[in-house]
Amino acid sequence: MNLVLMGPPGSGKGTQCSRLAAELGIAHISTGDILRQAVKGNTPLGKEASVYIQAGKLVPDETMIRIVEERVQQKDCEKGFLLDGFPRTIPQAEMLDATGPQIDCVIALLVDAEECVRRVANRKTCSQCGLTYNPVTHPPRKNGKCDVCGSDLILRVDDQPETMRERLKVYSQMTEPLVRYYQKSERLAVADGMSQPENILKNLKNLIYSRLPVRGS
Ligand code: AMP
Repeated sequence: MNLVLMGPPGSGKGTQCSRLAAELGIAHISTGDILRQAVKGNTPLGKEASVYIQAGKLVPDETMIRIVEERVQQKDCEKGFLLDGFPRTIPQAEMLDATGPQIDCVIALLVDAEECVRRVANRKTCSQCGLTYNPVTHPPRKNGKCDVCGSDLILRVDDQPETMRERLKVYSQMTEPLVRYYQKSERLAVADGMSQPENILKNLKNLIYSRLPVRGS
């Protein structure tokens, strides 16, 4: 079972993907996380990507395609994977269809742009492990510290208001056309992303189970 969850920045797709992948027993592949790890490690990929990330722009397709082609070959993807943040452009989706394992279902999480801006303004991210927190829906147990690794919580550079506006613009120009792309091949499902995280997760699971011949929900 190979899935894609798409949604604008701040839609909560990262949180939903972690939980969905764990419940479905498939690999969670977040291209944003892969790039942030590379930036933290100051690798050649990290050096290339950080310029784009900080500007709220997309890393070039060739780079992203190479990363994903390699990642989906890894052993933990044998039972399937959930892509989070990929594909983000038509060429990326075309590459996946041409050379990658088959994508069974693509879910577009629908969240208003204003709500995304609001969520991101409140979002704090662990500077070490990347877990995200929200003061209302998922506050840390200790103020300003990660529940899991105890590191400081920060505002991600690309969550700053100006960069966030750019990311939303890029999403509508470059990524939203994928809705039509996946609709044409009847692989698209849409889910309301405006309610509470627990409800969204429940709806996503129902949607996936209703479309795929998998174990019962
Ligand atoms: P995310 O955590 O998914 O919001 O990704 C953070 C940033 O990483 C994006 O704003 C892009 O700069 C970059 N990025 C992640 N995935 C991709 C992708 N598939 N194509 C191009 N850039 C990406």
